[in-house]
Amino acid sequence: MAVTIYYEQDVNPEIIKGRKIAVIGYGSQGHAHALNLMDSGCDVRVGLREGSASWAKAEEAGLKVCTMDQAAEEADFIMMLVPDELQGSIYAEFIEPHLKEGDALAFAHGFNILYGFIKPPEFVDVVMCAPKGPGHIVRRQYTQGSGVPDLACVGQDYTGNAWDLVLSYCWGVGGARSGIIKATFKQETEEDLFGEQAVLCGGLVELVKAGFETLVEAGYPPELAYFECYHEMKMIVDLMYESGIHFMNYSISNTAEYGEYYAGPKVINDQSREAMREILARIQDGSFARDFMDDCENGHAWLEERREAINDHEIERTGERIRSMFTWVKSN
Ligand code: NAD
Ligand code: MG
Ligand code: MG
Repeated sequence: MAVTIYYEQDVNPEIIKGRKIAVIGYGSQGHAHALNLMDSGCDVRVGLREGSASWAKAEEAGLKVCTMDQAAEEADFIMMLVPDELQGSIYAEFIEPHLKEGDALAFAHGFNILYGFIKPPEFVDVVMCAPKGPGHIVRRQYTQGSGVPDLACVGQDYTGNAWDLVLSYCWGVGGARSGIIKATFKQETEEDLFGEQAVLCGGLVELVKAGFETLVEAGYPPELAYFECYHEMKMIVDLMYESGIHFMNYSISNTAEYGEYYAGPKVINDQSREAMREILARIQDGSFARDFMDDCENGHAWLEERREAINDHEIERTGERIRSMFTWVKSN
């Protein structure tokens, strides 16, 4: 199945410049969308809670800021950039009452639409612009003249122009500079959840931790274990990212490349692949979404417990010591 990619010549910027945009939330994605849209010459306001800590920050950055109510009332394009688990209640209280015929309701992730936590009325367009990168990179790349690629999707096309509209919005946040990929809400949501769970976040952190623990358990110094299993990760990933696995393999020694084929499939084996299939099935049938929302309703009890456990892990303390020794590693 081939994907279609759209670039600047395929987009009409005037469409989004002619709309009144509300960006609801000013976190990782919110600040990036709002600032990039403003710098692209769009009419954008940020909708926040009264007393929100982000209020002054957004104003200092030159943005118009108002309450979520007012932003939704003024705007005809409403981008939901508050945490996924809060979107349903925020939508019901502050957004839905202000939706007018022909408005667009937009998302950066399809979670609430796909799993039905938000059910928009039939008289609005429902679209998605999902940058394939963290908000801070979306902003940084834009200011450097490039952009993070976006997935663009139409969930509901009331006006008949939803596709051109979402393409134009993606242009505003800088996506057209590197490419806008057409997808569906179902594809984006399920692939995004799978990627972050099995590979990018879940898989990666467990892989690094397991390698570190194996060496430390066997009596090797934690600092050396950190270097081998964690620190060098970025250099290998950078080579893969920039030029492919074959180039990474060309750059490492024959010993390392032989070891890759020799040991890799023993670590990521049939059992790991079976676990990945189960993870995907729980995403597809809605079990993961239910588990996540149950924990949210329970005050994030499980999430907080897991977060504490990793913060206390020896790998984090080792990393802190090592990063403070190396001036070239900038720490946040
Ligand atoms: P975030 O947690 O960084 O920011 C959320 C913002 O929402 C806060 O900064 C605040 O302004 C506001 N907020 C928080 N609690 C609130 C409340 N109770 N009432 C009103 N406003 C509140 O969120 P995020 O990571 O930017 O995620 C936003 C959306 O973007 C989600 O749908 C997410 O899946 C999607 N997304 C995020 C990333 C990413 O890099 N973080 C990447 C792609 C898509
Ligand atoms: Mg995600
Ligand atoms: Mg080596």
